[in-house]
Amino acid sequence: MNHDIDIKKLRINCFRQSKVAGEFMLQMRVPGSMIAAKYLQVVQDIAENWGNGTFHIGMRQTLNIPGIKYEYIGEVNKYIKDYIKEVEVEMCDVDMDVTDYGYPTIGARNVMSCIGNTHCIKANVNTYQLARKIEKIIFPSHYHIKVSVSGCPNDCGKGHFNDFGIMGIAKMEYHPERCIGCGACVRACQHHATRVLSLNADNKVDKDTCCCVGCGECVIACPTGAWTRKPTKFYRVTLGGRSGKQYPRMGKIFLNWITEDALLQVFSNWQKFSAWVMDNKPEYIHGGHLIDIAGYPKFKELILDGVELNPECLVAEELYWTESEQRANIHLKPLEQHKKAGPQN
Ligand code: SF4
Ligand code: SF4
Ligand code: SF4
Repeated sequence: MNHDIDIKKLRINCFRQSKVAGEFMLQMRVPGSMIAAKYLQVVQDIAENWGNGTFHIGMRQTLNIPGIKYEYIGEVNKYIKDYIKEVEVEMCDVDMDVTDYGYPTIGARNVMSCIGNTHCIKANVNTYQLARKIEKIIFPSHYHIKVSVSGCPNDCGKGHFNDFGIMGIAKMEYHPERCIGCGACVRACQHHATRVLSLNADNKVDKDTCCCVGCGECVIACPTGAWTRKPTKFYRVTLGGRSGKQYPRMGKIFLNWITEDALLQVFSNWQKFSAWVMDNKPEYIHGGHLIDIAGYPKFKELILDGVELNPECLVAEELYWTESEQRANIHLKPLEQHKKAGPQN
């Protein structure tokens, strides 16, 4: 059967075109990458009733169901209505109309997260709870943005390759009266982190606070509880990371020691910033390119507009990304093919 298929519209509904003509793959959002196991039954039902019986764990932690024929998309959209309602509206408190027509937008991509402090001994924060709060702010929207949340500076969520990479960090407190001078924290910081601890002549610990990344390895290593995390949760945020065929690059630190409250205010400005750059045209242009178009100073002005930053928060004065040479092949071309400096032959 021939169809006049509007691929762009289906993509907005989170159906991705297949290499098999007339087939599509549904991408179900999993904000914060943590949902009840019962939803695997939903995935199984869709895969076996309308897809090809398989599913793929998407690279952005979506649940992807390939092999759905175009003529079944309407039925699938009706079927996922309850999933969207329960996950987006009830779990994330997203303000959206849930209709028979599936997902309303694809611009704000699934908010990724590592498992965080409900399981991981390294984590400083609850990652999926923060991811759900961000989901509420950025979804649904036609403007593109990629966010990943990690519970500590290990960045297992690869936030360094997202528009916004968030890492949970904490200020550590030293209790010298509990310290037995074993040196375990010093070794842990040397091995896993930034080597800012040392034992002094009194067999107590000195710290170069300037370069502490707030990871908590010292807390984990200490056998006597002489290091503890202070209760306030902070975040480090990298900006402008991306993969891609032309200019892949790693994000750079934009904000350090920002509180959750201030961070959520920053995300509240993303829509306004994107609309300004795009002159209110909701086109699917990657968020990182919007930052590039505006330039970092203008981005900073708009994204921090009205945000009440906590006193500890540091903001990057200027950002210079190091883009890879994928487009130029700069290290792969023979030297004689490179343009020479000075007068050309
Ligand atoms: S980023 Fe940190 S908290 Fe998250 S899984 Fe990795 S080690 Fe654990
Ligand atoms: S929190 Fe700071 S002092 Fe402790 S291990 Fe990490 S970098 Fe080192
Ligand atoms: S690990 Fe704990 S007890 Fe050992 S030196 Fe460090 S703070 Fe002191």
